[in-house]
Amino acid sequence: QPVIVHFHSWLQKMGHVSSHLALTYLILLDSKAQQTELEWISSPPGGWEEISGLDENYTPIRTYQVCQVMEPNQNNWLRTSWIEKGDAQRIFVELKFTLRDCNSLPGVVGTCKETFNLYYQETDSEVGRNIRENQYVKIDTIAADESFTQGDLGERKMKLNTEVRIIGPLSRRGFYLAFQDVGACIALVSVNVYYKKCWSIIENLATFPDTVTGSEFSSLVEVEGMCVGDAEEEADNAPKMHCSAEGEWLVPIGKCICKAGFHQKGDACEPCGRGFYKSSSQDLQCSRCPAHSYNDREGLWRCDCEDGYYRAHSDPPSVACTRPPSAPQNLVYNINQTTVSLEWSPPADMGGRNDVTYRIMCRRCSWEPEECVPCGGNVGYSPQQAELVDTYVNVVDLLAHANYTFEVEAVNGVSDLSRTQRLFAAVSVATSQAAPSQVSEVIRERVQQRSVQLSWQEPEQPNGVITEYEIKYYEKDQKDRIYSTVKSRSTSATVNNLKPSTAYVFQIRAFTTAGYGTYGPRLEVTTKEEASGTTSTIVSSEQNPVIIIAVVAVAGTIILVFMVFGFIIGRRHCGYSKADQEGDEELYFQFKFPGTKTYIDPETYEDPNRAVHQFAKELDASCIKIERVIGAGEFGEVCSGRMKLPGKRDTSVAIKTLKVGYSEKQRRDFLCEASIMGQFDHPNVVHLEGVVTRGKPVMIVIEYMENGSLDAFLRKHDGQFTVIQLVGMLRGIAAGMRYLSDMGYVHRDLAARNILVNSNLVCKVSDFGLSRVIDDDPEAVYTTTGGKIPVRWTAMEAIQYRKFTSASDVWSYGIVMWEVMSYGERPYWDMSNQDVIKAIEEGYRLPAPMDCPPGLHQLMLDCWQKDRADRPKFDQIVGILDKMIRNPNTLKTPLGTCTRPISPLLDQSTPDFTTFRSVGEWLEAIKMERYRDNFTVEGYSSLESVARMSIEDVMSLGITLVGHQKKIMSNIQTMRAQMLNLHGTGIQV
Ligand code: AMP
Repeated sequence: QPVIVHFHSWLQKMGHVSSHLALTYLILLDSKAQQTELEWISSPPGGWEEISGLDENYTPIRTYQVCQVMEPNQNNWLRTSWIEKGDAQRIFVELKFTLRDCNSLPGVVGTCKETFNLYYQETDSEVGRNIRENQYVKIDTIAADESFTQGDLGERKMKLNTEVRIIGPLSRRGFYLAFQDVGACIALVSVNVYYKKCWSIIENLATFPDTVTGSEFSSLVEVEGMCVGDAEEEADNAPKMHCSAEGEWLVPIGKCICKAGFHQKGDACEPCGRGFYKSSSQDLQCSRCPAHSYNDREGLWRCDCEDGYYRAHSDPPSVACTRPPSAPQNLVYNINQTTVSLEWSPPADMGGRNDVTYRIMCRRCSWEPEECVPCGGNVGYSPQQAELVDTYVNVVDLLAHANYTFEVEAVNGVSDLSRTQRLFAAVSVATSQAAPSQVSEVIRERVQQRSVQLSWQEPEQPNGVITEYEIKYYEKDQKDRIYSTVKSRSTSATVNNLKPSTAYVFQIRAFTTAGYGTYGPRLEVTTKEEASGTTSTIVSSEQNPVIIIAVVAVAGTIILVFMVFGFIIGRRHCGYSKADQEGDEELYFQFKFPGTKTYIDPETYEDPNRAVHQFAKELDASCIKIERVIGAGEFGEVCSGRMKLPGKRDTSVAIKTLKVGYSEKQRRDFLCEASIMGQFDHPNVVHLEGVVTRGKPVMIVIEYMENGSLDAFLRKHDGQFTVIQLVGMLRGIAAGMRYLSDMGYVHRDLAARNILVNSNLVCKVSDFGLSRVIDDDPEAVYTTTGGKIPVRWTAMEAIQYRKFTSASDVWSYGIVMWEVMSYGERPYWDMSNQDVIKAIEEGYRLPAPMDCPPGLHQLMLDCWQKDRADRPKFDQIVGILDKMIRNPNTLKTPLGTCTRPISPLLDQSTPDFTTFRSVGEWLEAIKMERYRDNFTVEGYSSLESVARMSIEDVMSLGITLVGHQKKIMSNIQTMRAQMLNLHGTGIQV
């Protein structure tokens, strides 16, 4: 029997883990927490047995053990109690167990096993006690990383294994777990079943409720936030967050803000205190009440004005309360005939405002008793009566010899709100100089066909010396809209140049130095009929009223604006509008590396066929043998095959074919990729072998990349590489990009899907040249700036205004780093493209993937600097990665930051092989020295030979423990990556 002794040391460790679990996760089943017997179903009897052990506190724990290693054909089942799943979608099963090493048991060869199987069965309720094996779904075969031997029974040698598996999505109300033993010696120490939640939090003043994570690893659950009390959503920016599969909140977008009258304190909105206000939700802080205002309550959006102070309707709450101005000062006047000029100085108190104007009140008063009435509309004001900005006015057309009072009032924006008495300056003006009184008696002396002679008496009260009379006349039908005047120094006058048989109206007034008197009564006179044969009267010119009609012609001008686009910004590239490959960046590189080869746009060739043959070798179709189809390209199938050139070794190649029935344009576009690829020669850029254009099908022959595209490759091998291996891949991609940017080539679609991986894990940049590459990319979407863009990989400035440069390639490279470190996870998960753009603009950046060393995440963040000048150059990126590879310690993830639950091949400690001089030293460092002889006997004496070993080689050394095989293999892979990166040695996997 496997014996459970004291698990003190590891239980201490476990105790820590489970309290951590209790905090972060929701536990559905915890076998350790159960005090009484578990009473799981075991079948057949004699298989799994419930046995008690003690933990570090000497409290009993329940375990199940089985050890039927001597008998063949074991099939022992153990089923847990029914586990209700609640709202969980993705369930974690954490098993802790010990497993006995078969080598340590004598006489069990053939019957002893070192694995067991984990199953589950979904049901809506508890079912009977019979275990129907065919109703169970297998989750996995579980092997131990560490097993123990007979001699290891001491406390220190007890090896506890922890394995985590995930099940889901589940559709029934609950499930059972089952353990199938097929002849191993196992003690199941604890079974912990839990799921993850994003716990309710408040972010940006919005509450996000407890949220169960989605069913898939890559799915984010989008959650809308509810504004906390007294907060409201910012316009068009509702708060949202995303709950990740790991129970972490990610990507906050939008926010709530405190309403008017409230300000933010921590995660809540608090009312503004007394004496403070906040007028709008847009304001951050409460402000002190402005001058002459107050409030004695909390939470107000504005303060009230003190008595006698007011706020104009247009005054914002932030300005002081004000009052009407005091009266204007020093009012003086001057009389000139019937005009009174008033002048004054501004009031002593403007009321706290600078919008003071003046208005005039005019009253005419009778002499005895003094009664005043408003002057009415006959009086004129220059410049105007109210809203006077300057401190003077002329009042015209007053009556002579009358008594007036003028009040001048200063007003401002709050004068009309005030109920207090008006304050004004006043003067009384007696127009002492009276004008002459009316000319009332007018006599018609002679009436002719074209003239009328009139005479009159001097007015009764001339009030001075009359110097002149004015005769005003007009045709009666015209009323006095158009009238003429004639002047006379005597009391008679002849008005000439009239029309015959026409009724005229005449009025006369007298003029003295005091001004004109008023017109006398109207006198109507009709001129005589014209006798036939009469010649027309000679018109006296000085009496002839002149009517001037001024015609103003307004001429309109039409301005035509022509927009001329003088430059073609993007040259056509292979018939497409691929971005400009030039610009600052290219010049920079051209000057910096005058000797470096520069990329030539094939479209600059008149004849595209010439470009192809300039850059690509024409191959004889008979040298190429197509073997099988490996993918679909835009123009036809992508195949793998062999190429045998005369005098050369036969090699594996990828062959892109042009489908039959192509157009001339398709052929040109297809070959354009070869024209571009053929210019490159770098170990991290996919190599063009040549083209076949003189036969059918037309082919592009490329070096064969056994592991296909990087994103799919990483997803297939999730969690199986060491950090050093991943960094080695990234280093390769960066070196390829450094080369391309040095050539002046901007890639524009750098993404893991466009990187190819060969059998040595060497990564190479591929997918060249044309906008069609992007058009063809399923990730590319149309943006508002026009053109298709793979949004998640593209720098802000390229999305916003199509500024594609090597610096925007660096941004994409940062995304590739993230893809690599998360084993092909989709950047920004399943967020929408629009949300991605919004989040990036708001400054959000992707968090570090699980197990990603902080230094690498920092490099990603540098690549995603908003200002492209702040991003590192590819040259610097290569340097940084090289440094990390040389000092693997810098790549250690700090303990407890993020841990990947499943990492079958991953050994966290990755020793640097360069520090070992022999296979023995290396085995010692990875604690596998017990196999030293196995390596020596089989002839693996150098580290280089070890680096070439496959898993089969390791197994053939006689290392039977699966856990040890894995550990050794993973360290070999690390070593291989390190060698590859330091020497570029190609080692076949
Ligand atoms: P492409 O049209 O270049 O995107 O190629 C389509 C697919 O063919 C890619 O996703 C790869 O899986 C595969 N492929 C393209 N080139 C190669 C190559 N040189 N070696 C191996 N597979 C390739």
